[in-house]
Amino acid sequence: MVQKGVTVWLTGLSGAGKSTIATELEKQLKAMGLDLEALDGDIIRENLSKGLGFSREDRDTNVRRIGFVCELLTRHKVIVLTSAISPYRSVRTELKERIGDFVEVFVNCPIEECINRDVKGLYKKAISGQIPHFTGISDPYEEPLDPDVVVYTHQETLLESVHKILHYLHAQGYIPMVTTGI
Ligand code: ADP
Repeated sequence: MVQKGVTVWLTGLSGAGKSTIATELEKQLKAMGLDLEALDGDIIRENLSKGLGFSREDRDTNVRRIGFVCELLTRHKVIVLTSAISPYRSVRTELKERIGDFVEVFVNCPIEECINRDVKGLYKKAISGQIPHFTGISDPYEEPLDPDVVVYTHQETLLESVHKILHYLHAQGYIPMVTTGI
């Protein structure tokens, strides 16, 4: 079988579970022998987008850069997993239209739960005003209106969320099968 390329775009608040889901997805897709690349938002900001800040313009530039890499890889039949907050709806839609083979996954988690998790200790700092323009606290997050998949990480286990995405990818013909059931 010749693999089809696709961009799996995980969007959601900081701490919603994007990186955790991407890591598990990567593990499962690799076990199926598929060619993939994971682009983590934090790693992109350290490299491809070093120097960019958190204004709307810079955030959109960051997302467009990630999208550009996704477009190249997708065209070359790679499955690309991206985990970046990507708070603005219009640029996500722009990328979906440009890339075509693009699955928007809304990693949905209430802000209260993200604050509770505070994986990187950033919410505490944002709430006390030490970090300006923090998504969900002092900067907007525009929820997808019509995402391809929604995972609810405060209600589902990691594997339930991951399998939801894998089943969607299978149903759309992007992956041959889902090997491990739940
Ligand atoms: P993000 O990449 O969106 O900023 P992370 O993946 O770094 O978020 O952190 C999410 C946190 O939530 C992790 O500590 C993870 O263990 C926890 N978590 C709890 N339930 C889930 C779930 N169903 N899916 C993903 N993460 C979950």
